[in-house]
Amino acid sequence: MMDRDRNKTLLLELQRAAGTGNDRCADCGEPDPEWASYKLGIFICLNCSGIHRNLPQISRVKSLRLDFWENDLIEFMKTHGNLCAKAKYEAKVPPYYYIPRSHDCLVLREQWIRAKYEREEFVATQVCQDPCSAGSREGFLWKRGRESRQFQKRQFLLSAREGVMKYYIKESRGPKAIISIENLNAMFQTEKIQHAHGLQITYNTNGQTRNLFVHHESGKEIVDWFNAIRAARYHYLRTTFPSVPEPELIPRITRNYVKEGYMEKTGPKDAFAQGQVFIGRMEEGYKVQAGLPQGVRVKKRKPAITVVTPMREFVFICENEREQREWIDALNGVIAQPLSG
Ligand code: ZN
Repeated sequence: MMDRDRNKTLLLELQRAAGTGNDRCADCGEPDPEWASYKLGIFICLNCSGIHRNLPQISRVKSLRLDFWENDLIEFMKTHGNLCAKAKYEAKVPPYYYIPRSHDCLVLREQWIRAKYEREEFVATQVCQDPCSAGSREGFLWKRGRESRQFQKRQFLLSAREGVMKYYIKESRGPKAIISIENLNAMFQTEKIQHAHGLQITYNTNGQTRNLFVHHESGKEIVDWFNAIRAARYHYLRTTFPSVPEPELIPRITRNYVKEGYMEKTGPKDAFAQGQVFIGRMEEGYKVQAGLPQGVRVKKRKPAITVVTPMREFVFICENEREQREWIDALNGVIAQPLSG
């Protein structure tokens, strides 16, 4: 009993010890991890411990507080720890590879853990693929039909060298769409697509925003596609903006939308490209207001939002007041971000 309590105290001290990296989950960065893999010698959060539990060949988990820890395991944890594991298993993570956080979907977190410890994709002995070849990929994905909403198997081709992504309905025919890497975004949308591996690919063509909703039954395959798209985007950004420093480039590879949905746009038909409104920062003269601009009247008696940009004002009509509030909050969140660089 004495040993038990002493070991628990030692472990918790070890978790909080400065300079060990043990105070955050080794896999998702969540603070105060209360679990550990005593096979890998890492401290992890409850969520990640669930993933490790399914990989008994590479990892074994115990709770820091609830389980019994033998002396030799304490010793092992002491001589290993998160920084040590990071040095080994994350020696060569490519700059475009998406490292998931605790709020990311399960497939991203699970594949990150498998890529690190099971497949050892990032250990020092691995040959790092350059972004151009990593951004080239061919294979099939299940794509949701525009009208039928049924998923159909489609051939996809990604070429970082050509700067495009294409997909085919029949191989004998030409591509159904040729999408430029320049204005391509990919993000996991598992709830919206109603599939644990659901990926939303957004792009712009002739000023219109279009979406492809895809999935693959293999978690590895869909995450590999996601990172291949990121590699192609990184290759494009790196070659187009050679002087932009890496920390500024990385967040631009792919983005998660703050809020997504429909608002009705009113006002005169644009002579410019329709489909998107660039939201800049407060310092640049952008502003969001509830209601209509002065002197403007609309037929529908629904809550409105006015987005003020340096060029003009945009009016959006929301379905209800809750939607109006959510959009204002989301837009203000973007506008209030500090200008970088
Ligand atoms: Zn975690």
